[in-house]
Amino acid sequence: MTAPKKLFIKTYGCQMNVYDSERMAEALGGQGYVETKSADDADMILLNTCHIREKAAEKVYSELGRFRGLKDENPDLKIGVAGCVAQAEGEEIMRRQPLVDLVVGPQSYHRLPEMEAKTRAGEKALDTDFPEEDKFEKLKSRPKAARGPTAFLTVQEGCDKFCAFCVVPYTRGVEVSRPADRILTEARDLVERGVREITLLGQNVNAYHGAGADGDLTLAQLIWELDKIDGLARIRFTTSHPNDMADDLIDAHGTCTKLMPYLHLPVQSGSDHILKRMNRSHTADSYLRLIERIRKARPDILLSGDFIVGFPEESDADFQATLDLAEEVGYGQAYSFKYSTRPGTPAAERPQVDENVKSERLQRLQTLITRQQRDVQDSMVGKNVNVLFEKPGRREGQMGGKSEYLHAVHVANANVNVGEIRKVRITDSGTNSLGGVLV
Ligand code: SAM
Ligand code: SF4
Repeated sequence: MTAPKKLFIKTYGCQMNVYDSERMAEALGGQGYVETKSADDADMILLNTCHIREKAAEKVYSELGRFRGLKDENPDLKIGVAGCVAQAEGEEIMRRQPLVDLVVGPQSYHRLPEMEAKTRAGEKALDTDFPEEDKFEKLKSRPKAARGPTAFLTVQEGCDKFCAFCVVPYTRGVEVSRPADRILTEARDLVERGVREITLLGQNVNAYHGAGADGDLTLAQLIWELDKIDGLARIRFTTSHPNDMADDLIDAHGTCTKLMPYLHLPVQSGSDHILKRMNRSHTADSYLRLIERIRKARPDILLSGDFIVGFPEESDADFQATLDLAEEVGYGQAYSFKYSTRPGTPAAERPQVDENVKSERLQRLQTLITRQQRDVQDSMVGKNVNVLFEKPGRREGQMGGKSEYLHAVHVANANVNVGEIRKVRITDSGTNSLGGVLV
């Protein structure tokens, strides 16, 4: 028997990349690969890249340069680049970095096994097509091995919204929803393997409209189908666009007990002028009204968001409107970024806000959000939450998991198993997690 080949995957960016990396590892499992945690002993290194952050491509090139020594030591080592930088840069990657054997865009992962075989035959392999076929259908089904209690499941990919700052429509392509039966089969399989919480993923997950037996399903309808799976205890979804928060999805937050009270709903800016220039097609007011309706359906929902500061033309007054909106919403958690240009997107061509101004605004917004986050976390003290235990904590006897609000919770001397959901009374609020005792 030949020893298995070792695969090292480094994943950057969002949960969708985490999911893709799992599926790529499974696909290459069919080629005799097992995963390794170190690049040093790998027979194949795959960088699953993200193009959202600043200078993403440059960072990938410098990371690739670091593998030169490994390739010198092991000429059979194959190096691949996947993800959105692979899609955006394509052949340029192989031109600039001859160490690279394989470049695969996010829509072509099902072709990885044949691409890997090509590299073993000494050729270079490049695929950045947007093929018609469903890559997840063509990828090997997930092996039956047991796994942890939480899993990601991609249900929708790509985006047609073309926000003026964003590369996603260019790197992930047009919006496509996976058929419902495939998602349900994958979900049942995950549950059989020990998964109790599934997070449905999509760049625009609430625009989901996958084919069902009697026509297309909305995301809410898909959630109700998942709700019927015995053993599945929790459902989450991310990331949503405000314009796709349909009534049935808002209602589901009030009525579906498996749907967790947490919603990531990016707004980007609180200024209507900037939102218009971003091509967001919602206003600050329509967002606030939406939040009101969601809170009416589920008063305890924890809201999270994304913000961009220093978008071209953002004035002090525009930025103040963002602070005001954040203040009014009261986020339990939020991500904020300085605007940075993405080549090929409309806003990249516009006059830019001064870097120091951006930094100062980001700091002010983050101070506000951190305070809100703290307040929400502190308000949990004395309350009972349900914790899905995921793994032992760092201290002896400690177990850690997540509450329904996605807060990390630790319990000392907890006599519970991974995968159990137990009621916990929160006794203290730390920097990034809550402490509590079993009730
Ligand atoms: N589809 C989601 C939405 O519409 O809100 C967001 C997906 S995007 C992959 C994740 C976040 O990255 C965005 O919400 C935005 O805040 C941030 N982002 C995207 N492009 C950016 C850019 N050019 N500069 C700074 N932040 C950016
Ligand atoms: Fe990017 Fe989200 Fe806008 Fe689509 S909706 S273009 S993914 S920010």
